[in-house]
Formats: sequence, structure tokens, C-alpha cells
Amino acid sequence: MGTKNSVVLHRLTNLKTRLFEDVHVDHFRYLVERIASNAVTTSELENSSDKAWVITFDDGFESDYSIALPILLKHNARAVFFIVPSFIGKPEYMTWDQVKNLHANGMEIGSHSFTHPNFAKLTIDQKIHELAVSKTTIENMLNIKVKSFAIPFGMYDEETIKCVFQAGYEFCFTSQHGQFNYNDRIIPRNSVNSKMDMDAINDILFPSTRVRVKWVVEDLVKKQIKAVFGKRYASIRKIFMK
Ligand SMILES: [Zn+2]
Repeated sequence: MGTKNSVVLHRLTNLKTRLFEDVHVDHFRYLVERIASNAVTTSELENSSDKAWVITFDDGFESDYSIALPILLKHNARAVFFIVPSFIGKPEYMTWDQVKNLHANGMEIGSHSFTHPNFAKLTIDQKIHELAVSKTTIENMLNIKVKSFAIPFGMYDEETIKCVFQAGYEFCFTSQHGQFNYNDRIIPRNSVNSKMDMDAINDILFPSTRVRVKWVVEDLVKKQIKAVFGKRYASIRKIFMK
């Protein structure tokens, strides 16, 4: 286990959180203030300190642009935004212009697949298609090279990981708990959600041994729940996890 840390967030809100994944802006600001100077993109990882953090956002919500970006810029922090090209321009999601603006402001844009499927249920051809089409679409729209992929729902099998690297991605972000080393290419991410108070956020930013042991147990339980309930996992996790 390494010393670097990654967190995953979804939608930010100024109002009352509505979904499990929502995070209130005050909590996000609290998080950024604690790690800002060490919050890097994957390009900066290799030369970063042992205490580097990669802040990531999944799904491409409009709040990435309207709420997260100004706070990140104010604290000179960077983040990676994993977008789903087929969501772009839909209500509550960013437009291509907003994605371009994130990139122009020093943020990394990664792929979160083309249609956000459950990779554990796809054939190998479907996996390759989702990985390739999302990558080339973003690359063509932004005129950049996309290096990072984040797995939708955090659900995958061994074949998924192989396909990610064969498609030309350098980093594969999962939703497992944990920390990583500078030379790791499969990056675990600790999730920040609506149920967490400032103490819980502190715990994932600066995990004690007790917290790390809890992660191992939680990941095992989560794996079992996913194996049994599959797609219904999202709706029942509220009951099992705080
Ligand atoms: Zn997602």
C-alpha cells in the first residue's frame, strides 16, 4: 500500500443533498483547503510528493464547472474530471464548451466510458467499443490525449482492466478503497458522499491504521453484495453502508 490518495466525488450542491453521491459545497471546500497544494493530475503524479492527492469527479455534472472549478482555482488545486460523452449537453450535465473550459484551466479530462454501462456485464467487444469511442470522442472534441479511465459503478472483471490498458489508457481508476504508489497504474479511490461529515472526510484524507483496516473489510463486504445483487447494488448500498 502506497502513500498517495485519490478521492471520487459526483455532483456538488449548494442546497440540501438529494442523492447518495451528492456532496455539499461546504464539505468540498473543506476537503480542498486541506489538500490543495498537493492535489495533482496524473501528468504530475510521477514527480509529486508522497502526499499527493488526485481529486476526481465522475459523470460530468454541471456542478463540476459551476461549483468545483472556481474552488479548485482559488486554491490552486487540480483535479481529474471523468466524463461520459453521451451525457454531455443533457440537463444537469456539462456542455462541451464547459468541458473545454475545465481543460483550459489546467484540469485533466478523462473518460468514464461512452454510455456508462456496467462493464462486468459487457462482452469483450462491447468493452472495447465503450473504451475506444469515448476516448476518441473526447480527444477529437478537445484536441488532447486522454490518459485516464474511471470504471462506471466501480464494477468490473479482470477482462475490463486488460481492455482499458489495451485501449491505450495509462491509468485505470476504480472505486476500491486504499492508497497507491507513484508507479501504480490501477488507482483506488475513496468515495466522498452525502453521508459524510467533516470527520469522515478527514478520515479518508489522512487514514489511520484503524481506517485502513475498515476499508479492507468494507471492500470485501461490498464485493459480496455486488456479486449477489448486481445492478440492484446501488439502491441497497444505502442500507449497508454509512
Ligand atoms: Zn459514474
